[in-house]
Amino acid sequence: MNYSGLSSPFRGTGGVSKLPNVGTTIFTVMSVLANEHKAINLGQGFPDFPMSEELTGLVCAAMRDGYNQYAHMNGYMPLREGLAAKIEELYGTIVNPDTQITVVPGGTYGLFTAMATILHPGDEVIVFEPAYDCYIPTIEIFGAKAVRINLQFPHYSVNWEEVSQRITERTRAIIINTPHNPTGSILRAADLQQLQTLVQDTGIYVISDEVYEHITFDGERHESVLRYPELMERAFVSFSFGKNYHCTGWKLGYSVAPPALMKEFRKVHQFNCFSCDTPKQVAIAQYLNNKDAYLQLGSFLQAKRDYLQQLLTQTRFEPLPSKGSFFQLYSYKNISDETEAQFAQRLVKEHGVAVIPVSAFYQDDVNNGVVRFCFVKKEETLEAAVQKLIHL
Ligand code: PMP
Ligand code: GLN
Repeated sequence: MNYSGLSSPFRGTGGVSKLPNVGTTIFTVMSVLANEHKAINLGQGFPDFPMSEELTGLVCAAMRDGYNQYAHMNGYMPLREGLAAKIEELYGTIVNPDTQITVVPGGTYGLFTAMATILHPGDEVIVFEPAYDCYIPTIEIFGAKAVRINLQFPHYSVNWEEVSQRITERTRAIIINTPHNPTGSILRAADLQQLQTLVQDTGIYVISDEVYEHITFDGERHESVLRYPELMERAFVSFSFGKNYHCTGWKLGYSVAPPALMKEFRKVHQFNCFSCDTPKQVAIAQYLNNKDAYLQLGSFLQAKRDYLQQLLTQTRFEPLPSKGSFFQLYSYKNISDETEAQFAQRLVKEHGVAVIPVSAFYQDDVNNGVVRFCFVKKEETLEAAVQKLIHL
């Protein structure tokens, strides 16, 4: 029998795969292992404590009040208006809710749609490693090429000189992420200014992943692209309500871009998701009035970062700096010289704690002997996890 036809079911998708080298995301792999081994899951980034009852109450009320049909494809207008007001207050930028904000099913979708909107086969996209896991596969799905630049260990800062050297006439976009997953590093004003200098007078777009916008520590300010008008005019900025409101399972967020770019973004969006969960949009539109819910998030999570760090002083793990996000990296160099993947596997299987090997965020085999801990957990969860690590 001839199996050479590309669509032959006998050949699986090997012949037509757009992502031949991609397996299952590390977050699912580690969470499945954590469940199998009944381990404490400090791997995948999600809170293990309840979200606001006020907000779930508002969703129930919205459903009872009949907000159960399609919302506007660009998002429920009062929500977009509330977001525009919030953006102006936080970042001093006026954004038109009608033409510049689209509600989307999560930050990932916002990034994917931005790339679908601008990438053509053969384009190059500059991406920093370690890179959040969806960036490079998404670039490749559209036939573009990821130009990978390492952040500088151990502070994971950007070498802008190197970025400037890697820009070519094919560079279509640069992806930035601050606060950064997996490292907890942040970009500062000087970084954004350097980026602005590099892209001015070019056709390069900026894709800015700011899902952790409210989660910065130690008095650091979140440097949103939305603070920089010259960057903003070429940017797609991606946000997530899942991170802001302790409801990662809601998969709801929003994207911001200048009108001409947003118009193209919506051409793609309308044929993919079209419109998002209505009662949740109605509820969040009202809940935006509770400014403390997002303004206090940084200090709330800083206390958790510090608590885990204090607990881990009883072990031989050594912290790297974390200035934001849900995560802190720890070096295990004093404990083992295994690779990060081996160490993380052993930790979950033999010691009952799941963490994420940072090597999973690199295409090449980079091993600095660090793993990512998610500290967005109840105190007792962090305590129980550290108890299991104390004898390592
Ligand atoms: N970007 C980063 C850096 C993230 O950490 C996450 C989520 N964990 C996302 C995007 C995706 O957010 P969402 O769940 O809203 O798609
Ligand atoms: N962003 C979360 C993390 O980094 C997980 C999201 C996911 O599982 N896709 O752990």
